[in-house]
Amino acid sequence: MRFSLRGDAGATMRHDLMDLLACPVCHGTLQLQVTSSSGEEILSGTLRCGGCQARYPIEDGIPDLLPPPSAGA
Ligand SMILES: [Zn+2]
Repeated sequence: MRFSLRGDAGATMRHDLMDLLACPVCHGTLQLQVTSSSGEEILSGTLRCGGCQARYPIEDGIPDLLPPPSAGA
């Protein structure tokens, strides 16, 4: 399953979204590393999977949770 918030207007990254997000590769728990934020909204940072160590960037408030091409989605 492909999980992306791209194109969903207003669905920017927030702390309370962490409960909804899981690694698209192994469905492991993601750890949030915030680079910059504004209030509840995370503007940029990284989501790192505790299971497979994959990393997913957050840019302009949008988490890019697309599986790496090598995952064979
Ligand atoms: Zn994973």
